[in-house]
Amino acid sequence: MRIDIVTIFPEFFDVLDLSLLGKARQSGLIELGVHNLRDHTHDRHRTVDDTPYGGGAGMVMKPEPWGDALDSILGDAPAADEGPTIIFPSPAGEQFTQATARELAEESHLVFGCGRYEGIDQRVVDHYATRGRVRLISLGDYVLNGGEVAVMAMIEAVGRLIPGVVGNPQSLVEESHEDGLLEYPSYTKPNEWRGLSVPPVLLSGNHAAIAAWRHEQQLERTRLVRPDLLAEPVESPAP
Ligand code: SAM
Repeated sequence: MRIDIVTIFPEFFDVLDLSLLGKARQSGLIELGVHNLRDHTHDRHRTVDDTPYGGGAGMVMKPEPWGDALDSILGDAPAADEGPTIIFPSPAGEQFTQATARELAEESHLVFGCGRYEGIDQRVVDHYATRGRVRLISLGDYVLNGGEVAVMAMIEAVGRLIPGVVGNPQSLVEESHEDGLLEYPSYTKPNEWRGLSVPPVLLSGNHAAIAAWRHEQQLERTRLVRPDLLAEPVESPAP
C-alpha cells in the first residue's frame, strides 16, 4: 500500500520508522511519503493560514497550498474509482471504526491531509470530491489540535490489517471489535501475582472450556462497558 501524508509537521511521522509499521516499510509492504504543506507555499513566510471569511475566532488553512500539494501527489492519477482515497481527519467526519480500517486496508493508495487551526478551507474537500473518493473521518467525539494524531491512529489500525504486517494473522481475528465484541482478558506467567490468580480454566488444558469461558468473558465485558455494541442490549448483572 502507498500512503501519502500532507502536514505542516512532517516530524510527527518519524515514529512510523518504528515497530511493525517500520518493518512493513522496510520490507516494502507499506510505501510512505510525508509532504510538508509549507513546501507548497509561494510567499516569504510560507503562509498556510488566513482569517476566516464571515469572522470568528481562529485561522483557516488556505486552499492554494493544499491544491498544490495534493495535485503533486495525485499527478495524473485516474479520477474516481481507480485513484487514491483522500482522507481529511475531522471531528465533523464519519466515525472511524474497525470496519473503516478494514475498508481502507483494501485500498492500494491512501492520501491523508492533516488539518490545523480551525481546519481547511471547505473548497479543498469539495474540489477533490469531484476528482475522486474523499472521506472526512473523525477519530472520536472530541477535538484535537491537528489531524496528525488522528492520522497516526488510522495508519496504525489500517497498517496492521495489511497481509504480512502482523506476523500471526490469527492474532488479528481474536481482537476487540473484530467479531463485534470486546476481547476477553489475557493472562501470562506467573499464575500467582500479588495474591491474584489466573482463572483456573486457563490452566486446565481443556480447549473447549477455555473457548467457552473466553466467549462468556467477551459478552460480559461488552455488556458492562459497551452495551451499544450488542445488537440487542442485555441488562447489566446486579452488582
Ligand atoms: N474547527 C474544527 C471543528 O470544530 O470541527 C476543529 C479544528 S481542529 C482544532 C484542527 C484539526 O484537527 C482538524 O482540521 C482535524 O484535522 C483535526 N482533528 C481535530 N479533532 C479531530 C478528531 N476528533 N478526529 C479527527 N481529526 C481531528
